[in-house]
Amino acid sequence: MARLRRAGVHARHLGIQRSPFLPACALGPNRNRDRVSATKNHSRERGKLATSLYVHVPYCESACPYCDFAFVVGQDHTADRYLSALKRELADRSSEFSRSPLQTIYFGGGTPSSLHPEQIGRLLRAIEEEIGISSDVEATLEADPLHADHYDGYRALGVNRLSLGIQSFIDRDLRSLGRRHTAAQAIEAIEVARSTGFENINIDLIFGAPEQTLNTWRNTIEHAVSLSPDHMSIYGLTIEPDTPFGRRHSRGSLPVVSDADQAAMYEWTQDRLAREGYEHYEISNYARPGRSSLHNLACWRGAAYVGLGASAHSFDGLRRSWNVRALSDYLEKIESSAGATAGHETLTAEQRQLEGLMLGLRTSDGVHTASVSGATTTVEDLVDHEMLEKTGDRIRLTPRGRVLADAVCGRLAGAL
Ligand code: SF4
Repeated sequence: MARLRRAGVHARHLGIQRSPFLPACALGPNRNRDRVSATKNHSRERGKLATSLYVHVPYCESACPYCDFAFVVGQDHTADRYLSALKRELADRSSEFSRSPLQTIYFGGGTPSSLHPEQIGRLLRAIEEEIGISSDVEATLEADPLHADHYDGYRALGVNRLSLGIQSFIDRDLRSLGRRHTAAQAIEAIEVARSTGFENINIDLIFGAPEQTLNTWRNTIEHAVSLSPDHMSIYGLTIEPDTPFGRRHSRGSLPVVSDADQAAMYEWTQDRLAREGYEHYEISNYARPGRSSLHNLACWRGAAYVGLGASAHSFDGLRRSWNVRALSDYLEKIESSAGATAGHETLTAEQRQLEGLMLGLRTSDGVHTASVSGATTTVEDLVDHEMLEKTGDRIRLTPRGRVLADAVCGRLAGAL
């Protein structure tokens, strides 16, 4: 179900394709960059300075069969070298940061928790010395449920938001997704995170796992609700061509969940989590009041961010750039002082306006009516069909509109 699979910017860890309308965040490879063509004449406007930092950690202990993000397996012996390279890239790019201390830091992957707390501590010290970290920073680290012995170390360093790659609370679904942990270990990881002082915990969940049923998905959500995480990122499985799942799918041997069933899972989830008091603040993200991801909100609202490491993306409000994807290339580039940037694009004013519209519509903020004043008839039609709703001077997707978000956004974009 393409519409749901594409939902959400923050999809790097889940094998999810971003919407063709969305810019990449500082997160993972931008497969859509050819859709937002670079201008040949770079804007004379100055970009913004960043108060958000993304750090990519590519190490994983096994390859999930649905994943096509930038990760490596069996390369942990290069971790200290990689950390040195990250510190060097940070120093080289210090002029891209605001003089104000960082407001958000996000360690994503890959599997950042494959790094020992001492290694994360080394990075945080370098960040503090080079850029400065706000006393009320949101510092997120993505963690594997099997790395629970590291959690207290991260908390002691000041990491205050843990994002756990749970994916499911059903063992059969976890096995079909190729995950190493069991449901019991997932539950234990959340309990350890709580007991070590994390008061802001996200769990990632995937619907549409092979052979998953609406009932087993409901069981996963009910387990999640009973554990009361502060935030849930919930994505539909995407079958990417160049992955083991993609190859099985092309041979016809992957039992995929139908589009209709995925839609039913999504709609049921929206309703269930709303009844539990979770705010559906972005198409794929739900949070307790006050627990929305500040880092992702900054990206969705067009703030500047710097991404360090292999495959990381950066954005200054005008220009997007991305680093080389392969770990070996990244190390070689940084160590030879060549810089790790693989490419960049500068958005036109029109492209920025369109991106702002599409990103805004995906969040519960919605967009100002003035931003769609050129598409009044289309807006009215979408309101009549209960895809959009107007409240005062804001326009938002309805729950029904979220299911069909790409189509709704596509119609609006076409009418502007
Ligand atoms: S653990 Fe590694 S391989 Fe698995 S989904 Fe995350 S980044 Fe991909």
